[in-house]
Amino acid sequence: MTSPEPSVFSRIIAGEIPATFIAETDRVVAFPDVAPKAPVHILVVPKTEQYANVVELAAADPGLLAEMIEVAQTVADEQTGGDFRLVFNTGPGAGQTVFHVHAHVLGGGLEEGNLG
Ligand code: 5GP
Repeated sequence: MTSPEPSVFSRIIAGEIPATFIAETDRVVAFPDVAPKAPVHILVVPKTEQYANVVELAAADPGLLAEMIEVAQTVADEQTGGDFRLVFNTGPGAGQTVFHVHAHVLGGGLEEGNLG
């Protein structure tokens, strides 16, 4: 039986792909996105890859989701003055490419306006 390939984020967490961790808790890490879409673009990722997206995570472990959001705020406090946009792409049709749940923390000179 073959085991599934680890996600790119699991490989980063394992130290197999380089990334600079800018925040870390027992269950969550944060590191810059390799292809930033904003002046500040950080990924906040749980160390477990058992949840493919935020809907699965929220249903199974809302405390871990809350921990991710706390880490997002910590990162934003350090890098954007505290304000940030939090994006969870959910499903390929919404642009999700890595099916290991992660939050995009975007900030620092976002385009004017909001998404509404
Ligand atoms: P998604 O499109 O799934 O919401 O976001 C995946 C994100 O992971 C993309 O923004 C992409 O740039 C980022 N990414 C993919 N591979 C790597 C990598 O090896 N290192 C880092 N730091 N980010 C990556």
